[in-house]
Amino acid sequence: MSSTEATNALSFADLGLSASLLKTLTDIGYETPSPIQAECIPVLLQGRDLIGQAQTGTGKTAAFALPLMEQIDVKLTKPQALVLTPTRELAIQVAEALQSYAKNLPGFHVLPIYGGQSYTIQLKQLSRGAHIVVGTPGRVMDHIERKTLNLDNLKTMVLDEADEMLRMGFIDDVEWILERTPAQHQTALFSATMPEQIRRVAQKYLVEPREIKIKSATATVAAIRQVYWQVSGMHKLDALTRILEVEDNFDAAIIFVRTKNSTVELADKLSARGYAAAALNGDLNQQMRERVIEQLKSGALDIVVATDVAARGIDVPRVSHVVNYDIPYDTEAYVHRIGRTGRAGRTGNAILFVAPREVSMLRSIERATRSPIAPLTLPSRADVTNKRVADFKASVAEVLNAEGLDFFSNIVSQIAEEQNVSAEEVAGALAMMAQKGKPLQIPGEDPVARPFAAADTRRPGSFGERDRKPRSDESRPRFDDRGAKPRSEGSSDRPRFDDKPRRAAAPAGDMVRYRIDVGRDHGVQVKDIVGAIANEAGIESRFIGRIALYDESSTVELPSGMPAEANNALKRTRVRGIPINMRQDEGRPDGAADGESKFDGERKFKKKPSSY
Ligand code: AMP
Repeated sequence: MSSTEATNALSFADLGLSASLLKTLTDIGYETPSPIQAECIPVLLQGRDLIGQAQTGTGKTAAFALPLMEQIDVKLTKPQALVLTPTRELAIQVAEALQSYAKNLPGFHVLPIYGGQSYTIQLKQLSRGAHIVVGTPGRVMDHIERKTLNLDNLKTMVLDEADEMLRMGFIDDVEWILERTPAQHQTALFSATMPEQIRRVAQKYLVEPREIKIKSATATVAAIRQVYWQVSGMHKLDALTRILEVEDNFDAAIIFVRTKNSTVELADKLSARGYAAAALNGDLNQQMRERVIEQLKSGALDIVVATDVAARGIDVPRVSHVVNYDIPYDTEAYVHRIGRTGRAGRTGNAILFVAPREVSMLRSIERATRSPIAPLTLPSRADVTNKRVADFKASVAEVLNAEGLDFFSNIVSQIAEEQNVSAEEVAGALAMMAQKGKPLQIPGEDPVARPFAAADTRRPGSFGERDRKPRSDESRPRFDDRGAKPRSEGSSDRPRFDDKPRRAAAPAGDMVRYRIDVGRDHGVQVKDIVGAIANEAGIESRFIGRIALYDESSTVELPSGMPAEANNALKRTRVRGIPINMRQDEGRPDGAADGESKFDGERKFKKKPSSY
């Protein structure tokens, strides 16, 4: 038995969680703890400090959120835990996760606080009393300074995605906050990577922390075609059906999701779209489980939507495809999953859905399996139509050789004569009738990525969802994929421009240059500006264009068509505590000629970034 199987054999009950929380987890549909949860939960329940090296997708949020829930005294309406996150989207997601785990804890209140949202609302919420505050460093700092956030009763502090906070220029703010937390409290630090500065912060502020790192053992995968689709611009379900429809050699598939509730939901949705699909999860008894597998073998089912545990050991040779609809927790789970296809000497296909923030997990899988996973371009509407037309033609061609065709051809001739139309037109009408149940064309247009996140219309604290939204949220800034490289900075007097790749990654379209009132003299770095804009205006970092730093001001290029809301948020935004007063920049950038700027930008790009 591999280490993953050994870890997975643990149940949530084995970790020391209370009966009421266990019931909540059953309701939400979690079957077993992920490896990082199995290791972290007991340590955090003991009250120890912890460093968890884990990336998005490993289940790290629940790893700290569940122990937090156990510590909360609902009667005490003061912040007892503070979670710092790099972005407002993550703050909202973590708050939603905490709210979902509080299903059986009446009166529990979690409050996300982040930049770009009105202070009045946040002040009202804070004065009402929140048990856990989840926030971005800048706004949390503001509230501490204004004395609207009191940390006297703080028992636990969580730094989530610490390396991301560093990358976005928030590490000084994080330290400022850590300096102002009560001496006696537990601290948990989660980070996908451990750069030196994060180590230093951990050494300074954590007390004898337990270090937990989920090792990804290298494993070899059989000759399976592996591809991934970067989730963007389209719902995962629509993407899935498009992909399956145009895949060559599709026979049967196992689709992996995380929760048992998702197995049922997705199987129902696929059934509604005409697939012979069923769910396979830990709620099924042995007999029911065997029945589902038997049906998959016999062809009565083409798709089984399963959790990792339920699908373990399935050996059905006709499974031509494995789809990782939700990314697995680690490499070992990935290897187990894709081993369900390519059996009995047949060709196997593995498709992985990767949300923007899960790209680092994709890279870990590639490293550990030592096999590259190729990107998959989503089939366009035209591709799907072409495939459907080809299939339709093939099925018509088959009937052309069928016995008794004369009888029908004769009817066609009669119709043509009676209606005074050609036989071709009659055939067209018949084809139209025949494809009524399954149109050959997909209505609508292919989606395009949008630079501006949809306005956040939710009221703070009004989270009604039972489970967290999958990490496919397009509105999250993408600092971990193409935008991973920080904008380069130098120390010359000339304006400094950020790196080219991000600009190249930005979609074609008009950019507008804005000027802001912070520059080199304020100690501002390019990453501070990127972080603030991504957070305050909800603009994905890849859509942020060139940034030039001058002594007292800077310019930023942003896509045209910025919504008023984002514009207003940016006018009020502060970077390093200074209001940026962003406005459209009409003039030329401090006399620098375009040619010079470009050259400078290219030269700077070749420089090694200073702090990474
Ligand atoms: P995270 O890595 O914390 O961002 O979690 C990624 C996703 O995994 C979220 O949608 C969680 O709801 C889900 N998740 C976390 N732990 C479990 C679990 N033990 N079983 C099923 N789903 C989980």
